[in-house]
Amino acid sequence: MLYIDMDSFFASCELLRHKEYIGKPLVIGTSEEKDKDRGVVQTCTYEARKFGIKSGMPIVQAYKLCKELVYIASDEKYYEDVSERIFALLRGYGRQVEQYSIDEAAIDIEGLDYNNALSMGKELKGRIAEEVGLKCTIGISHGKYIAKMVCESAKPDGLKLLKKEEIVPFLAGKAIEEIPGVGPKTASKLHSMGIDTIDKIGSVDVQLLAKATGSFGAELHNIAVGDDRSKVVESSEALSISRERTLEKNTTNISDVYAMADKLVEEVYGDVKKKNVLFKGVGVKIKYDDFTYVTRSTLLKNYSQSKEQIASVAKKLFEKNFDAKKPIRKIGVKVYSLSKVSGQRRLA
Ligand SMILES: [Mg+2]
Repeated sequence: MLYIDMDSFFASCELLRHKEYIGKPLVIGTSEEKDKDRGVVQTCTYEARKFGIKSGMPIVQAYKLCKELVYIASDEKYYEDVSERIFALLRGYGRQVEQYSIDEAAIDIEGLDYNNALSMGKELKGRIAEEVGLKCTIGISHGKYIAKMVCESAKPDGLKLLKKEEIVPFLAGKAIEEIPGVGPKTASKLHSMGIDTIDKIGSVDVQLLAKATGSFGAELHNIAVGDDRSKVVESSEALSISRERTLEKNTTNISDVYAMADKLVEEVYGDVKKKNVLFKGVGVKIKYDDFTYVTRSTLLKNYSQSKEQIASVAKKLFEKNFDAKKPIRKIGVKVYSLSKVSGQRRLA
């Protein structure tokens, strides 16, 4: 598995078109320039970090720390355009690509040995630098979770490969929160079982883990013992049915999310019936008030046309990725990997 994550993506995008700000303390803020004092720091450059500025900090406070701060209002559309160019490049390799967020993806590299995997990583970094003008970090290992953690450990501008036998030593002593997907809810359950580090997960009975953390339990166990079997779940936008909508107001209340999700599921299901297709994948998108977003998806065992199945999978994904500290602005629901009911024309 190869995991790629762009380095300080939004700020780097801005520096592409504002070369005059290179080397300056720069923040990307959530509010328009004229209302900037009402917003917070979405992301900032390393130069701004040196003053103690960080994501989530009120702009007013950031200016107190650094008078020469350069302010740019977040431009989501532009970042999505740059992201699309990067993903077109990634998909050009003809391998399965799972998009995790605007600037993160897992790529299936099955069949490549360690040397070839490293060469591919090197080539990707070179091409993204040359063709898009941005830096990224790549982690290569077995399974998505481990590869993402390796990527995290190699930032910024890194390329790191972790061999199978190096995984357990790499994980030893790391906090459970470092496992991607372990949110506050799963973490508190694990803590109540006396589990605070990843290696401890491996010594707990799988049944007990599953009881506490649901279907994630078995996966957690595999990760902890260095046997992460997670595979790329590709979603093709063209072959999907999706709906997304902005919530009435930004919320940290999950019941608001569920209420909106019910409406979106209803609409997606309406399209599924109208087009008379089956789906195998269900996905959600969560956009936060700082304009970042995540996408998560699950592949079902069989093709389905059930509304209840869209609803229950979407709800699970929202629940698992909910973070009460991050207000949500907009959500989306989709089904993908579609197939015609007749079975004659497979769409995916
Ligand atoms: Mg990134």
